Amino acid sequence: MRADQLVQLVTQILFVLIFLAVGYKAVRMPRRVNVDIALLFGALASLVAVGWVTEALKATPGPLLLDVTSALAIALPYLLLRLVEDFSDPPVLLTRAAALGLAVSMVSFFILTRPYLPWVTLLYVAYFVSLTVYVAGAFVRAAGSSTGVTRRRMQSVAIGSLFLSATILLAGFQAAVPALQVIWQGLGNVCALATGLWYFVGFAPPGWLRRAWQEPEVRAYLGRAATLPQLPTTEAIVRALEVGVANALGTEHAVIGLWDEEFQVLRFTLDGTDYQMPPDQIIVGRVFRTQRPIFSADTVRDNPDQTAMYQQYASRAILAAPITAGESQLGVLAVYTAHAPVFADDDLVLVTLLADQAAVILETRALIDEGARVRAMEEATRLKDDFLSAAAHDLKTPLTTMVAQAQLLAHRAKRNPAAPADLEGIERIIQQANRLKELVLELLDVSRVEYGKLVGRHETVDLVTLVGDACARHTTDFYQCMLIAPEQLVGTYDRLRLMQLLDNLLENAVKYSPEGGEVRVTLEREANNAHLTVTDQGIGIPATDLPHLFDRFYRGINVDDRQFAGLGLGLYICSGIVEQHGGRLWATSPGPGEGSAFHAVLPLPTESLETPVNISDDGVQLAAGTLVQEE
Ligand code: ADP
Repeated sequence: MRADQLVQLVTQILFVLIFLAVGYKAVRMPRRVNVDIALLFGALASLVAVGWVTEALKATPGPLLLDVTSALAIALPYLLLRLVEDFSDPPVLLTRAAALGLAVSMVSFFILTRPYLPWVTLLYVAYFVSLTVYVAGAFVRAAGSSTGVTRRRMQSVAIGSLFLSATILLAGFQAAVPALQVIWQGLGNVCALATGLWYFVGFAPPGWLRRAWQEPEVRAYLGRAATLPQLPTTEAIVRALEVGVANALGTEHAVIGLWDEEFQVLRFTLDGTDYQMPPDQIIVGRVFRTQRPIFSADTVRDNPDQTAMYQQYASRAILAAPITAGESQLGVLAVYTAHAPVFADDDLVLVTLLADQAAVILETRALIDEGARVRAMEEATRLKDDFLSAAAHDLKTPLTTMVAQAQLLAHRAKRNPAAPADLEGIERIIQQANRLKELVLELLDVSRVEYGKLVGRHETVDLVTLVGDACARHTTDFYQCMLIAPEQLVGTYDRLRLMQLLDNLLENAVKYSPEGGEVRVTLEREANNAHLTVTDQGIGIPATDLPHLFDRFYRGINVDDRQFAGLGLGLYICSGIVEQHGGRLWATSPGPGEGSAFHAVLPLPTESLETPVNISDDGVQLAAGTLVQEE
């Protein structure tokens, strides 16, 4: 056998093999794309078969047979164009012209007698080549917007189509310049073989090649996925997974629907809109129920009830796979596309793979959450124990004093009933009883903070007056409280709780300034908030303590229990008061011994009720009634 004959034979066998592969698939899954591919290779295989039969019979093909083979060949670019239609919208004019060209060519084969006039042959070749080149271009464009296996397959089909048009062009040259027949034929055979090879790779790639093509996408996705369980919320993980899947598949929309066992719905977000759907109402619901991946080439046809939603998100086709880790059925991963993908089966394999990975990530996250929940419960139990022992300890001191004092009074009364009442002793008991009452109230407030029930009825309050009164209450010869504020700053608050907040901050300012000094309170409007600052010149706060001061029972490392009595609950309650008013409380300090500042921001009504302020000469705002204690 000569080399050119061998090339021809290999090419023919290739086309027949591809036909068998795609024909089998079209029978198994008779989707339009699969049928179109089978038709294309059916035409090619028929051409090969006609050649083999005539050669086996050693017959010269008659004019009718020649017309049939020509008709089959001229149908090839049109069948390729149908494939392009499956994944994009080629101009209507072009598809109509191509169909017309095909019909005219086919009829002309049977009407005209051979040999054709050169310009007629030229027209056939021009029709074939231009359409095939257009198809190749369309496949190149589609490859550009897809990834992985689909991209490589599209590219292969594009290259195969270019070789196909070259083959026909060379056949045309054979007719036009018969003197160089051997060259044209040799080149034509090589181009036909190249067409066969590229089409084989494009239309029926072997499994190992698909896996090799898929690997980079899966690898990139996994690379990103490894860090996802650490994201702060499950929602953030889901969004990141959706982006990762969309990138891996080269599509715009990838959506994860999470199963809500309580409400028996799938929850998902599309373009910022939240949906919760019972599974029987959506295509992806079927995936969840059956636990099998699904490809829907026409969403509206498969689920007309949700036409509006599918149209809104330009979702003509859906590829979806269940997100399931072992026994836990977590949800569904769906990829929506504006056109049914040509190589949907490869994409579906990839979607299934990514869904499995998503399941692992979401399950890991659930385990992390569970671990955190258990740790939080342990922490809560530990805090409760701490709370009980700290509370018992702090209640014990005034109680012991009260009991001892009462016993002393009783003893004295028994010994000398006529003696005048020991007013000092009684005073001490009252003092300790009050201390006890304060502690009990503080403990009660702690549980109110936890249940979010600390703040009650709101009323109109002028913060300037309230703060001014508090400042006055806490001013002594040893401590000067100075207020800098506008004339009025009115909002609606729980007056008593705000008084408690101010008293607490001012008491602390005084308590933690054993050397005395000025306590400065400033009140100013910042946009729609009132900003209150209580600054003292006391013991200051170490930087490491600043983030923890508002925790229950937390006391600074520079605070000696014997010198500064306290439970470490005041600031915890204060931050509850401020937060339950919709504000924020925080502390700043240059460091130990450098004084501290406590800042509370409270919301003000949007329309200012504030009256103009008096600006003193040096620019400081001094409100009417400002309390400035001179040294
Ligand atoms: P307590 O005063 O009973 O300890 P608080 O919750 O009011 O409880 O305060 C918590 C801790 O914050 C205090 O133990 C102290 O370390 C620190 N702190 C509060 N106010 C001041 C202040 N004005 N100056 C320095 N440290 C302060």
